Amino acid sequence: MNAVKMVVLGASGVGKSALTVRYLTRRFIGEYHPTLENTYRSKTTIDDEEFSMEILDTAGLENNIFRDGHTSWGEAFMFVYSITDRSSFEQVKQIWTDLKSQKSPQIVAALLVGNKNDLKHYRQVPTNDGDKLAEFMGCQFYEVSALDGQQIPLVAELFRNLVRELRNK
Ligand code: GDP
Ligand code: MG
Repeated sequence: MNAVKMVVLGASGVGKSALTVRYLTRRFIGEYHPTLENTYRSKTTIDDEEFSMEILDTAGLENNIFRDGHTSWGEAFMFVYSITDRSSFEQVKQIWTDLKSQKSPQIVAALLVGNKNDLKHYRQVPTNDGDKLAEFMGCQFYEVSALDGQQIPLVAELFRNLVRELRNK
């Protein structure tokens, strides 16, 4: 079986835990402790191929994303910002730049996620900015909501597409 080591990165409060837990349990956990960091195991089948995923939901990485060797451990990275928080978008750029300088570019499978798109009235990051950043990063981009129950299938696609991305590297 293929093993995938995935890391969910981004500023505190953008919904990394909410997205991860939504994917794993289909539930929305509204209050997940901001400093709680966890690795989850999950299996998924893509095109008749079975993958065993380890998902690291990071926390408190603002100061040093390379703390504890997370980034050297990971093979596939989900970069999450909140569409309601411009600074979280800027932080993704910074984390991406740092990651590129650490990792060999060709081994980095990435995916960009603008979360909380249920909060359109509070939007601070235009969709177009996300598109442009994804183009720069050379990765797929999605705007989603971990809160909106209608988007559970889309949240699952994020995680599965990142596995696909890694498989195709
Ligand atoms: P993390 O620090 O990145 O892990 O963020 P959390 O998953 O703990 O979420 C931070 C806060 O944002 C919590 O109060 C969540 O309930 C809320 N939240 C997470 N995702 C969404 C979303 O898609 N929409 C809305 N409206 N709130 C969300
Ligand atoms: Mg969290």
